[in-house]
Amino acid sequence: MKAFTYVKKGKFEMREKPRPQLLEEQDAIVKVTLASICSSDLHIKHGAVPRAVPGVTVGHEMVGIVEEVGAAVTKVKPGDRVTVNVETFCGKCFFCKNGYVNNCTDPNGGWALGCRIDGGQAEYVRVPYANQGLNLIPDFVSDEQALFVGDILATGFWATKISEIKSEDAVLILGAGPTGICTLLCVMQKNPKKIIVCEKDENRIRFVKEHYPGVFTAVPEMVKEITAAAGDHGGADVVLEAAGTEASFRLAWECARPNAIVTVIALYDKPQILPLPDMYGKNLTFKTGGVDGCNCEEILNLIAQGRIDTTPLITHTFRFDEIEKAYELFEKKKDGVMKTAVRIHAV
Ligand SMILES: [Zn+2]
Ligand SMILES: [Zn+2]
Repeated sequence: MKAFTYVKKGKFEMREKPRPQLLEEQDAIVKVTLASICSSDLHIKHGAVPRAVPGVTVGHEMVGIVEEVGAAVTKVKPGDRVTVNVETFCGKCFFCKNGYVNNCTDPNGGWALGCRIDGGQAEYVRVPYANQGLNLIPDFVSDEQALFVGDILATGFWATKISEIKSEDAVLILGAGPTGICTLLCVMQKNPKKIIVCEKDENRIRFVKEHYPGVFTAVPEMVKEITAAAGDHGGADVVLEAAGTEASFRLAWECARPNAIVTVIALYDKPQILPLPDMYGKNLTFKTGGVDGCNCEEILNLIAQGRIDTTPLITHTFRFDEIEKAYELFEKKKDGVMKTAVRIHAV
């Protein structure tokens, strides 16, 4: 089968590989129908993910059809349409039991697919712990609607959940890239009084204005003033930082009112400075880190009910043999791209 592969720093290529086999009784083999490219794939390509194994098939955002299951897989059966979770988790350790599946202590726990074990930019993928890692797609939900459930939408959902948003809050989201938009869609489910999205890219500001007319937008130069005016207490009650730059990290705590919650979901390429003397007395609560992707069923229900729709994010779709073109477009942010989808098998 064809598998898009991390060869070495700076180089991905299409390779011919044997079809994956069941290795453990909790494994499932999934025939990938639609996959996407995530900025984490680019981090691997740029050598910024040291634990990524050269030779691994990349891709961790995909949906497909169950082809084969191990003896202990009870949740899905061959023929089922499923979303695949970016995280592998055992469901039994302390962290899994508390919903912190990102910290699963299994050797393959956390982000393994498309990083440490073969991922989903391939015709087939082996998913370990399939009872946890796969979720059934309702019949009337399309591949496109379900594509981001296991990764960026799970991230937005988790970030929203830990941010403790209340109806009287002014919520600031920094960054209107794909993860920022997924976060916005989940924040909107909480119906806060005001939502402000800060973004420097004109295309992305336009995207927010066009699709989410009730949301306020701000460029970074103006966001402090806009947020101070929008909040009832001189700043944002909740800030979600999804932009991942030095400037956005600073804005995250600067725009927060005293005693606000600042949730940092962005992945930075270098350490950030937390200038504690400058924020002394502001008494902020910081929440940080990587998604606990264990709410996929709930997210799929919201999609099925028409409450969350991420399909406008798919600005471009390619065939599998055009995946290099898809990467090129996504990496260089050409043609107003938000997300690219890659059709691997027709449904
Ligand atoms: Zn990702
Ligand atoms: Zn676990």
